[in-house]
Amino acid sequence: MKTKAYAAASAKAPLSPISIDRREPGPKDLAIDILYCGVCHSDLHTARGEWPGILYPCVPGHEIIGTVSAVGKDVTKFKVGDVAAVGCMVDSCRQCRSCEDDLEQYCEGPHSFTGTYNGAAKGGLPNTFGGYSKNIVVDEHFVLSVRHSKEQLGAAAPLLCAGITTWSPLRHWNVGPGKKVGIVGIGGLGHMGVKLAHALGAHVVAFTTSDSKRQAALDLGADEVVVSKNREEMVAHTGTFDFILDTVAASHNLDALTSLLKRDGTLTLVGVPEEPHPSPSVFPLVFGRKAIAGSLIGGIAETQEMLDFCAERGITCDVEMIAMKDIDHAYDRMLKSDVKYRFVIDMATLD
Ligand code: NAP
Ligand code: ZN
Ligand code: ZN
Repeated sequence: MKTKAYAAASAKAPLSPISIDRREPGPKDLAIDILYCGVCHSDLHTARGEWPGILYPCVPGHEIIGTVSAVGKDVTKFKVGDVAAVGCMVDSCRQCRSCEDDLEQYCEGPHSFTGTYNGAAKGGLPNTFGGYSKNIVVDEHFVLSVRHSKEQLGAAAPLLCAGITTWSPLRHWNVGPGKKVGIVGIGGLGHMGVKLAHALGAHVVAFTTSDSKRQAALDLGADEVVVSKNREEMVAHTGTFDFILDTVAASHNLDALTSLLKRDGTLTLVGVPEEPHPSPSVFPLVFGRKAIAGSLIGGIAETQEMLDFCAERGITCDVEMIAMKDIDHAYDRMLKSDVKYRFVIDMATLD
C-alpha cells in the first residue's frame, strides 16, 4: 500500500515529501497509523550520510507511537484501535543466542537485526522506511504496548529510542540506590538518562557543555551538575563514580571521564559520533581496573519493561512538537544543542 512520508533523497538533500510502499500486513503483522515520531540524533547521522552504508531514499524515524489500524489473522497481543509503539528494530533472526536471550539488538543471525529504517526489507521492497510517515507495518513481536494516557503519547514517543538506550545500560550495570552515576550530554538521550537514573534511586550527576542547562538538569532530577568545560568542577569528582553513561554525539576526550571513575567503575558509550574519539589513555584504566564499554538500544522485552516503569511513574520526555516540514530546521537546531530535549513530529502535519 502507498503511504505518505518524508525522505532524504541523498546525504546533501533536505528532506522532502515522498510516496512509499508498505507491505500488506501478513498473518503476524500490524498496520499502525502513526500519531507521533520522535527525532533522534541517529536520524540526522543517517539522513545526512554521516555513517557508512546509508541507502537512499532514506525515511528516518524510530520513536513511533500510533493507533493499530489493521491486524493479521495470527496477531494475539493487539487489536484495531489499540495504541502501539515501534522503536529501532522491526525484525531479527529470532533463533540466535542473543534473540533467545531477548536481546534482539545484538542478533547474531546472518543479517543482524533489521533496523526500522535503512534495514533490509522483506517482500522485494527496497530498504526499510521509518516513522516519518503516515503508517507502518510491523511484525507484532517488535510492537510495544503503551500504557501512558492519551495526552502523554507525544511526550512518550522518544522513550522508544532515547528511553530504552539509556535504560538498558543503567539496568545492565545495576544503577540504583547507593550508586553515583554520571550522565554525559544532556540532549535527547541524556535527559532521559538523568530522569531514569534518578527514578532508579541513584545519585545522579549531569555533565553538560552548556552553561544554560545547569538549572534545567537539576529540574530533570540531577543531584549535581558539572559544566564539563570548567576543569575545577571536573577534577572535584575524580575517582568517585560507579558508572558513567556517555551520550555525546561528537568526538571528545574520554580520559576526562575515565579519571572520574572509582576502582572497577565503567564508562559506557552510547553516542556514536561521525568521527572516532581520540584513543583513550591506558593509565587511568589500569590504575583502578576500569572499563570502557558500549551499549546498543535495548531488547524488546526490556523496552516493554521500561515503558511500563515510565507509565507507572508518569515519566515522559521533555519535548518540543514540530511540523513535518520543519525537520531540517530541527536537525540544524539539534546540532547546536538547541532543543529541550527532544523534537517530536506531529504526524497530522503530514497531510
Ligand atoms: P542530541 O539530542 O543531539 O544530544 C547530544 C548531546 O551531546 C547534546 O545535547 C550536547 O549536550 C552534547 N554534545 C553535543 N556536541 C558536543 C560536543 N562537541 N562536545 C560535548 N558534548 C556535546 O543527540 P541524541 O539523540 O541524544 O543522541 C546522542 C548520540 O547517541 C548520537 O550519536 C546518536 O546517534 C547516538 N545514539 C546511540 C544509540 C545506541 O543504541 N547506542 C541510540 C540512539 C542514539 P550538552 O549541551 O549537555 O553538552
Ligand atoms: Zn535513536
Ligand atoms: Zn538473532
